Amino acid sequence: MKELEDRIRRDGTVKPGNVLKVDAFLNHQCDVDLFDQMGTEWARLFADRHIDKILTIEASGIGIACMAARHFGNVPVVFAKKTQSINLDGDQYVASIYSFTKQREYPVIVAKRFLHEGEHVLLIDDFLANGNALHGLIDICHHAGVVIEGIGIAIEKGFQEGGKKLREEGYDIQSLAIVDSMDAEAGTIEFTSAQ
Ligand code: 5GP
Repeated sequence: MKELEDRIRRDGTVKPGNVLKVDAFLNHQCDVDLFDQMGTEWARLFADRHIDKILTIEASGIGIACMAARHFGNVPVVFAKKTQSINLDGDQYVASIYSFTKQREYPVIVAKRFLHEGEHVLLIDDFLANGNALHGLIDICHHAGVVIEGIGIAIEKGFQEGGKKLREEGYDIQSLAIVDSMDAEAGTIEFTSAQ
């Protein structure tokens, strides 16, 4: 998606350790108009799918998933939580994820009452790197017995293994920008155009 690639080129910065910082429009400050355009694009890419619900992970998935939901007939958005709290009551699905940015394991939790067997779910997340976060969500989906119709990603780091592994597993992944390579010293970011 050209608008997203242009924005990454303009406002993204490359940090050592292969981390792309996009907090000016995605991970801290949110560009709602850009999110809306991303929702339009996912709706086009998944137009032949029936979606009952969108599932994402807090925090940065929530904004893009909610804007996307507007383009899928205002379906509910469920976000997996990363910490237990007294507000999280009832039976839960829990998976463990290794965080690329935090370099540690953390749980992802979804209350059982928000995912129902047989529902058709679209997964959405901000980044796809090694695929750990998505594998956690997929694990929860399998336990809940929902059907994963597709996976919408804002930025895929194509030089990491996650996208390749998940496509080999048969998932329909639509990434709006795929970063081919990036260089922290030169500050350059190269893309593969997804479609
Ligand atoms: P994975 O689990 O696929 O290795 O990484 C995906 C998760 O790690 C995303 O949800 C995102 O929060 C974070 N992440 C991975 N790589 C990057 C990156 O380069 N920049 C940012 N901002 N987050 C990243």
